[in-house]
Amino acid sequence: MSTIFSKIAAGEIPSYKVAADEKHYAFLDINPVAPGHVLVIPRKEVDYIFDLPEQDYLDLMAFARRVAKAQQKAIPCKRVGEAVIGLEVPHTHIHLIPINTEADMNFSKKVELTAEEMTRIASAIADKFE
Ligand code: 5GP
Repeated sequence: MSTIFSKIAAGEIPSYKVAADEKHYAFLDINPVAPGHVLVIPRKEVDYIFDLPEQDYLDLMAFARRVAKAQQKAIPCKRVGEAVIGLEVPHTHIHLIPINTEADMNFSKKVELTAEEMTRIASAIADKFE
């Protein structure tokens, strides 16, 4: 069985890609709580992040750190907030959200962005990814 996020990482479902390597994929959340809200996933299908083998968990965190540094360069913000919820999609994912205040991490409040804005934001983050 393949999760929706595995299909996204495989390119079978479109996404606003920001970064990838052989073990990870990062893309814009389709329903962002702030501009530049990114999801980082391991390609390996594990539902719950704390069930990942330790090295996979550490590799995911290291990859997310690189993505956060790219977001910080591409999007004006004080910090990049990191959160794990995982109640909706049964495939480990980390939320990375550019924030200026604590209220920007509010998952009940979404922002509306056009496809053009999403494309521009994804490309700006991708350009800064190292
Ligand atoms: P969680 O599982 O952490 O509660 O939330 C899952 C997150 O995945 C939500 O923020 C939701 O907007 C995002 N999401 C769900 N389906 C898709 C999708 O098909 N594409 C993208 N880019 N994001 C998705």
